[in-house]
Amino acid sequence: MKLANRLDKIPPYLFVEISRKIAEKKARGEDVISFAIGDPDSPTPEHIIRSLCAAAHDPVNHRYPETFGMPELCQAIAGWYRRRFNVVLDPAKEVLPLIGSKEGVGHMSFCLLDPGDVALVPDPGYPVYSISSLLAGGEVYYLPLVESRAFLPDLEVIPADILKKARVIWLCYPNNPTGAVAGPEFFEKVVAFAKKNDIAVCHDAPYTEVAFDGYRPHSFLETPGAKEVGVEFHSLSKTYNMTGWRIGMVVGNHTMVDALFRFKSNLDSGIPQAIQIAAIEALTGKQDDIPIRNQKYQQRRDKLVKALEEIGLKVTKPMASFYIWARIPSGYTSAQYTAELLDKAGVAVTPGTGYGKSGEGYVRLSITQPDDRFNEGIRRLLTLRAK
Ligand SMILES: *Cc1c(COP(=O)(O)O)cnc(C)c1O
Repeated sequence: MKLANRLDKIPPYLFVEISRKIAEKKARGEDVISFAIGDPDSPTPEHIIRSLCAAAHDPVNHRYPETFGMPELCQAIAGWYRRRFNVVLDPAKEVLPLIGSKEGVGHMSFCLLDPGDVALVPDPGYPVYSISSLLAGGEVYYLPLVESRAFLPDLEVIPADILKKARVIWLCYPNNPTGAVAGPEFFEKVVAFAKKNDIAVCHDAPYTEVAFDGYRPHSFLETPGAKEVGVEFHSLSKTYNMTGWRIGMVVGNHTMVDALFRFKSNLDSGIPQAIQIAAIEALTGKQDDIPIRNQKYQQRRDKLVKALEEIGLKVTKPMASFYIWARIPSGYTSAQYTAELLDKAGVAVTPGTGYGKSGEGYVRLSITQPDDRFNEGIRRLLTLRAK
């Protein structure tokens, strides 16, 4: 069978080697503690599950959902943005619910790129930005995120010939994988840059509600003029521990929201309605599970940062997201250090290079394991302390 050439554009899975090693260890009956995956360990709050169950029993929700998303959900999303960020959105034109934000992120590339067009993509970054750009026939120009610039890209150094071909810039703050955050001054620069060069902005923001020490992350759409140039993706996955239910949204620029709707509506038939109803409850119901959950993450963050420092890694405590981006000791590549942690401590992390070339010299650890596993992981890491 001959498969489409575009599938060849999907780069080889970067964690092949490490995944094979983990599988081998497990096959030998050895226990591996994984700090590799960011997926909330707390359950979805009870009031949300209750509304989901009730909705599942209602036959109205057994039929095809409305493709665009229930108007009540679009209103709930607009209401949440207004309360949380003081951002005003037209629920009919500037809001589109998604089957998880990953789906929307991936499909947006197909709405913005023709062959030969360029996507500006952060390195390190969530792999979907680059892979969807390539699948859409576009080219990728990487924007290095380096520690000396607080992991914010330098928009001034992008060559003029690239800017001419660039159609979109992808950004993500609070950032996966570095845990970095961005403030209004940076977003103002982004809006000016986008206007000057006629480049669409896609801000992927699933971690705005996972923050510590009283810090409140910003929405890109708070920035004056943002809606003229871009959209923001948000998700209920990380905010309400709902990764398993698959629901998120894109909001902002009407032309981009509408383009994504036109594209998507030919591929999917909307989000199961019971899940949309659960999302309405999540966005409009009580919000007090979030600070409690963040408090728990914050304690784990502090413990993990301390343990990593004790075994010789350099870490800046993240103010948001559930990732620790740790600089490894010199003398190792990220892949070697990852293998060493697995072999010597039975602990899995992700090599920074899994997120791009500029991730060399780092590993990423997540703080989303249940406490007993998390604490066992910390204990194992500490066995590597120089004796
Ligand atoms: C988790 C994550 C997503 C996807 O979230 P879903 O809504 O579950 O699809 C998107 N972008 C980044 C950077 C993420 O870490």
